[in-house]
Amino acid sequence: MSTSPEHIVIAGAGIGGLAAALALQRRGIACTVIEAAPRPTVVNASILLQNNTMRVLGELDIGRRTAARGRRVARTSIMSVNGRILTEVKAEDVEGAVGAPALGIHRADLHETLLSQLHYGCLVTGDPVIGFETAAGGVAVYLRSGERLPGRGLVAADGIDSLIRARLHGDRPAVSSGTTCLRGVTETAAERPDEVLEWWGYRLQFGIIPLPDGRSSWFALIPTPAHPVLDPDDRLTFYQRLYRQFPREARDSLAATEPKNTVEFELRHRPWRGGSGAVTLLGDAAHPMLPNLGQGAGQAIEDAAVLARRLDNAASPAAAFRAYEQERRARVRWIQRQAIRMNQIASVPSGPLSTARDAVLRGLPARLERTSVMRMFDGAHT
Ligand SMILES: Cc1cc2nc3c(=O)[nH]c(=O)nc-3n(C[C@H](O)[C@H](O)[C@H](O)COP(=O)(O)OP(=O)(O)OC[C@H]3O[C@@H](n4cnc5c(N)ncnc54)[C@H](O)[C@@H]3O)c2cc1C
Repeated sequence: MSTSPEHIVIAGAGIGGLAAALALQRRGIACTVIEAAPRPTVVNASILLQNNTMRVLGELDIGRRTAARGRRVARTSIMSVNGRILTEVKAEDVEGAVGAPALGIHRADLHETLLSQLHYGCLVTGDPVIGFETAAGGVAVYLRSGERLPGRGLVAADGIDSLIRARLHGDRPAVSSGTTCLRGVTETAAERPDEVLEWWGYRLQFGIIPLPDGRSSWFALIPTPAHPVLDPDDRLTFYQRLYRQFPREARDSLAATEPKNTVEFELRHRPWRGGSGAVTLLGDAAHPMLPNLGQGAGQAIEDAAVLARRLDNAASPAAAFRAYEQERRARVRWIQRQAIRMNQIASVPSGPLSTARDAVLRGLPARLERTSVMRMFDGAHT
């Protein structure tokens, strides 16, 4: 394989790397994506694309195609385990102001949609990046196969355990939030098929995300840092036992799921980091965040759009990368902090505290809630 030294090399073909490649190609900037896995790897789970994310995908001219593969969210509600609404966001209150809907979509469908738009031959799979060097005028990227790829710049989109981040910064591994999440996909539609629903209990949290085509998806959080690896059948039974006090819709979702259609993750995060010279970081490589706001992939997609705009006609990739980092830093850090706060509020460590939390949330004026939601959705300027 050979790439031109004029290319930007992107390490990683997750949502962030693919979105970056698409954003660059839309501006006529040549790039090559290097993926470690033999084919782009997709977890069997859904993802929520919030209104700000869908707006950026619209700007990248892929909004309609994405929407066609997902299910529009008409309402998002957070409830107590007895079904009382704690906070609620209706689509009609934000869609007009943001200019795009929120969407539930299977990750495989999002990946396929992104891949389908890339230029033929720009993706190399099954050959991990194992190192890189910066030199005057660009970078050299080394692959496990022994290949040396020259490029104008390197974008690390290689995820939370990024090798490139480790080489640049040598910083500590990602931090555990002390919570683990089981996600599942069912072959049956949810009872409320166009709503995102969350129930917050005492240290437990269950959510449903809509999917199209008569399917549905859910997530369940438990306050354990690293759950022991169990057989998928035993694991699902374990969660069913923990969630037996939760409302029927949550229990039905667990019961309707094949154990093989579940996947478990410990939730981790780490601080935002930028790059150096002709190397920058993007998506989880730069700012892995807790998923409590459904913004991790959204922020990777916002990164991609800003990066491409900054590279367009820039004096040099290094200058463009620093301008991109400068533009993104404050917003991403703010969202990371909000996600940690949301995780702490959702998993308060005692029964009385969870009762007090519910009372406070129910008492919040709708105006305040809308202001904070709009701040999250509105800060995306690409
Ligand atoms: C439980 C959970 C729920 C979530 N829900 C949502 C949600 O609803 N909405 C949302 O917006 N976000 C959500 N997120 C966050 C979102 O999944 C991530 O932020 C997003 O997938 C990050 O994409 P990425 O491309 O940066 O990284 P990744 O998806 O990790 O992709 C990195 C890619 O790089 C490849 N790679 C790794 N090392 C190398 C190497 N050395 N060389 C080449 N390639 C390499 C990997 O194989 C992989 O393909 C959730 C996360 C979790 C854990």
